[in-house]
Amino acid sequence: MSTTIARIAATPVTVPLEAPLRHSNGAHWGRFVRTLVEVETADGYVGLGEMGGGGEDATRAFAALESYLRGHDVFRLEALRMAICNPTASLYNNRTQLHAAIEFACLDIVGQKLGVPVHALLGGKLRDAVEFASYLFFRYADPATGRGEVRTPEQLVDCARALKAKHGFRAHKLKGGVFPPAHELACYRALAAAFPGERLRHDPNSAWSFGDAIAFARGIEGLPNDWLEDPVYGIAQMRALREFVKMPLATNTIVVNFEQLAANAAMRAVDVVLLDTTFWGGIRPCVKAAGVCETLGTQVAVHSSGELGVQLATMLHLGAVLPNWSYTADAHYHHLADDVIEGGPLRYEGGAIRVPDAPGLGVRLDRDKVARYHELFREMGGYPYDRDPGRPGWYAHVPNHDWADPADAAVPGLTPQR
Ligand SMILES: [Mg+2]
Repeated sequence: MSTTIARIAATPVTVPLEAPLRHSNGAHWGRFVRTLVEVETADGYVGLGEMGGGGEDATRAFAALESYLRGHDVFRLEALRMAICNPTASLYNNRTQLHAAIEFACLDIVGQKLGVPVHALLGGKLRDAVEFASYLFFRYADPATGRGEVRTPEQLVDCARALKAKHGFRAHKLKGGVFPPAHELACYRALAAAFPGERLRHDPNSAWSFGDAIAFARGIEGLPNDWLEDPVYGIAQMRALREFVKMPLATNTIVVNFEQLAANAAMRAVDVVLLDTTFWGGIRPCVKAAGVCETLGTQVAVHSSGELGVQLATMLHLGAVLPNWSYTADAHYHHLADDVIEGGPLRYEGGAIRVPDAPGLGVRLDRDKVARYHELFREMGGYPYDRDPGRPGWYAHVPNHDWADPADAAVPGLTPQR
């Protein structure tokens, strides 16, 4: 029996968040919808993958891939990439994120078969744990409990203090682009005052105008900023902004493939490329990109696009092997109320999570949890990531000018209108 793909199973799950997370395009409506992928080989191994999908179920997309991949040797990872995301064929069917989930599962199987953790397949770990920033969000209150709202500077600092006390974070990232930039500036400065000397960064997800970005950057000069993340949209505009701001610029948006990395090398637009194992199409593309960045003197860090434990494991293995990384990572993970992996959610100690050393990704599914959260998905369905439950009919422009009202404490319902 060979280690070839025999079956691909995909299961959508919904895992509750402590409160709805707001962002520049809308919100995570009180839960994450993730598609769990299990790749089974002819010789009986099962590898795990995970994918988002903007709040929607991606199972049909994986079902459509099974006929492409049945019989494919899981060790042939470069061939896998061409089999499902050849760059010209991908003009018709962009499968980058699907490839990522399948690649995670194949690496998991290769690791299990060889009896080594995934980080050993990627060059070997350079660190035993990956440290994370607090990743703070503006949040609606949970409509069931009335708790969890983050809207004012005081609420933000309280939330950050609670997360720091619980998980030990020593760096803070604020997800913005929700409220008028002046309000978010006051929030950011409140964090700086509350946690003197601790590293900070802000991410409005490209929602700002050029002028907004300059004003905000000037308002935080002198603070211990890691970077300003995607303040405006586009490589050319980020390059232009560099002339006016005195801090590194980072992106997880405009440099997410090798063509864009080449453009950024030519333009010198972005200083820090945030590597996302889903957006880049897998762990291995992120490691390759980190190598290019090391050569160019471009900085890298580990990005989070929302994860359960399977995807978090991919981030830990990536973070373990990057030689040219000196920041904290991002994770949405601590906003979740639960996880689907055996042993419950991975734990932070001193703001860091240990890199798994068991063979493969080092996490396994808890079948009862998967069944419970699959049932919850069946009850609740998906949600539109790029819509705001509190602002029906609104959608974001880039740059945006129509901000949420920081005086509005309303608690929206979380059932999407279909
Ligand atoms: Mg970002």
